[in-house]
Amino acid sequence: MSESFEQLIDPLGRHIEDLRISVTDRCNFRCTYCMPEEGMQWLNRSDVMSFEEIERLARIFVERYGVKGIRLTGGEPTVRAHLPVLISKLSKLVGPDGPVNLAMTTNGATMRLLADPLKQAGLKRVNISLDTLDRAKFHQMTRRDELNNVLDGICAAQEVGFDPVKINAVIERGINDSEILDLATFGREQNVEVRFIEFMPLDAEGHWMNDNVVGQAEILEKISAKYPLEVLPARGAAPADRFRFLDGGLYGEGSPGSMIGVIPTITKPFCGDCDRVRLTAEGDFRTCLFANKEFDLLTALRSGESDDQVADRIEAAVATKWAGHQIHQVNFTRPSKSMSQLGG
Ligand code: SAM
Ligand code: SF4
Repeated sequence: MSESFEQLIDPLGRHIEDLRISVTDRCNFRCTYCMPEEGMQWLNRSDVMSFEEIERLARIFVERYGVKGIRLTGGEPTVRAHLPVLISKLSKLVGPDGPVNLAMTTNGATMRLLADPLKQAGLKRVNISLDTLDRAKFHQMTRRDELNNVLDGICAAQEVGFDPVKINAVIERGINDSEILDLATFGREQNVEVRFIEFMPLDAEGHWMNDNVVGQAEILEKISAKYPLEVLPARGAAPADRFRFLDGGLYGEGSPGSMIGVIPTITKPFCGDCDRVRLTAEGDFRTCLFANKEFDLLTALRSGESDDQVADRIEAAVATKWAGHQIHQVNFTRPSKSMSQLGG
């Protein structure tokens, strides 16, 4: 890294290079593995970071500490009004490798409308969540009848040239595990990389049980029975283990649809390589999705602290980043916030 950047390194020597920013806790879906149907307590608008506040914090991470990637998430980031304005501010931040690599995770329902303005504003990559190809099951899982809009949103994202467009599929036993192969086939045919995500204990309703987790081994077994796979070399701190179809997929070797990923948070934690930190929509800084401690940076900003003072808080927080989550330990306690409040 160039000498003009300080390094944000945790006590275990992990360099922090990836920042997830939740731009809202609200959402137009109610996925069963994330939110309750009703009764979510939304943040007051005045407690949510403004675009200027997000930009100021992001600038510290990128231009002081050389953070290379920012991913916007939520809640559903596209329900935040004027999102392209924020993208355009963030896309101007310059890190060690040039402009920050700006990505977003979305449910994709409004991508047909937003893909072009977001691309024009400087967004580079999108992950779109799609857990099932069956309309009734989609309705059951998201509590919204939006499958066709999401499928169209995926096409729209590809058409405007996001590179890459990836699909996130959370697999839950007894719900959509029968569709693992269909989702892999969809990725091959649509030429998108599908990333299968193990169900995590971050659902607001607390239904998660270890028995509902479909682990990486089982996911790979189901896919490779039809499409033989080979593991790809690990890419640094990326959370997904990646695999290539031995037949090269339908669009040729190296094309997005020639690969799949699995995010094995539960059965094969990747905490040892984790380079990620997070900002919630209300400006709380977290060093792990499962952390039970967070650091309020928004109050620091609003009370007039300088960038140096805020940076001291960031460093103090990173010094507490733990070795890894404790999901299989008896002393594991779920975070008090659920996935949509944390910024998954
Ligand atoms: N609303 C956007 C979306 O759904 O893509 C972004 C926010 S969502 C919280 C980010 C990702 O977390 C999505 O891919 C979603 O499927 C995933 N997710 C939500 N709850 C989860 C859980 N309990 N376990 C694993 N992944 C989860
Ligand atoms: Fe909304 Fe995303 Fe959570 Fe589904 S997973 S309820 S789309 S935030």
